[in-house]
Amino acid sequence: MTTIAVVGAGINGLCTAFHLSRQGARVVLVDQFEAGHARGSSHGEERITRSSYEDPRWVVDMQRCHAVEWPLLEAALGEMLVYRGGDAVFFGPEAGPFAAYARAVAEVGAPVDEIDAAEARKRFPAFTFAGSARVLHDRSAGVLAAGATMRGLCRWLERAGVELRRPFVVDHIESRADGVEIAGPERLSADFAVVAAGPWARRLAPGLAVRPARQHVGYWQLPAAKAGHFPAWVHLGLGELHYGLPTIEGGAMKAAFHDHGAGPGDDPGEDGPPSGDAIDAVESRLCEWFTGGPGPLLRRETCFYTNAEGDRFLAGWTGERVYSLSACSGHAFKLAPLTGRRAAEAVWLRAR
Ligand SMILES: Cc1cc2nc3c(=O)[nH]c(=O)nc-3n(C[C@H](O)[C@H](O)[C@H](O)COP(=O)(O)OP(=O)(O)OC[C@H]3O[C@@H](n4cnc5c(N)ncnc54)[C@H](O)[C@@H]3O)c2cc1C
Repeated sequence: MTTIAVVGAGINGLCTAFHLSRQGARVVLVDQFEAGHARGSSHGEERITRSSYEDPRWVVDMQRCHAVEWPLLEAALGEMLVYRGGDAVFFGPEAGPFAAYARAVAEVGAPVDEIDAAEARKRFPAFTFAGSARVLHDRSAGVLAAGATMRGLCRWLERAGVELRRPFVVDHIESRADGVEIAGPERLSADFAVVAAGPWARRLAPGLAVRPARQHVGYWQLPAAKAGHFPAWVHLGLGELHYGLPTIEGGAMKAAFHDHGAGPGDDPGEDGPPSGDAIDAVESRLCEWFTGGPGPLLRRETCFYTNAEGDRFLAGWTGERVYSLSACSGHAFKLAPLTGRRAAEAVWLRAR
């Protein structure tokens, strides 16, 4: 039986292990931290899912994620993971990337309406849509139950006989002609390895051109009038993007600036508190975009992006027997069931 070691139990490693296990492989999944840790990219209870993207290839991928991959995961885990009722709105100045988003969704025929700001204010009275002439109303969008997905996948993998070992810090991976040796607190032998190490990716796949960037996220209370039908949203500014979404438990909005970072990036090994300045800057933008502004700030947290040029994903063979899937540019949760499937299929085909 083919044995595959998956390094990293974030959403990408879990989805890859899920597909490998369904294909019949023996899977050993290791992570340097315990389940539920908040040091990487996949913690927290919710994420946005959407069709709207600037690149039509991602719009197409998202149609498949919504029609096939997330329903498959929901059926396997036996619970609802995608909350679609809230939709999402995309807005911003005409000189920004708005037009490219509108073109991409129209080209693919995704369920997204392009409407003027007056119509958008009628549909979503909590928003001012200040500075935006046109708005995309993405009817395929919603909120993913990210925490439930992570917990459900771990349970599913355990039931399927996948060995989950943590804490297990992988020091390096040695490729041999007939397999790989994973060096950590003990040595593991496998036929292939998949590295899904998120912001730590460069340590195990030094060739990956990625920049880890610490994100600063706030949670604001929604005034009761806004708590009902409140969509996820993305403001497409000039060289800057902000986003927000309702929380799954309700009554609050999670929002942040989508930070690409600078220079070599931030060190995920260093602990850092959420930046009050960064959160204050987000709050001042929320006051522009929401009638009456947001409610009080409830809490703050940090999270890591693993950015690649152009928000691309970097996934592929980084050794004869090592596949890396770890540069996910801050928007990979919604796509992980598909990128995990692709990683699993690439390894499985080479194994045969
Ligand atoms: C604030 C924030 C908001 C986001 N919002 C959205 C959104 O709305 N929609 C969306 O689709 N996406 C969103 N994303 C992006 C998405 O969450 C990430 O792209 C995704 O979680 C990346 O998962 P991952 O598995 O690649 O990395 P991670 O979750 O970081 O997992 C990597 C794992 O590898 C382990 N590891 C690393 N090195 C080693 C080693 N040497 N040995 C053992 N284990 C190791 C780590 O401990 C970690 O558990 C957001 C991200 C952030 C930070």
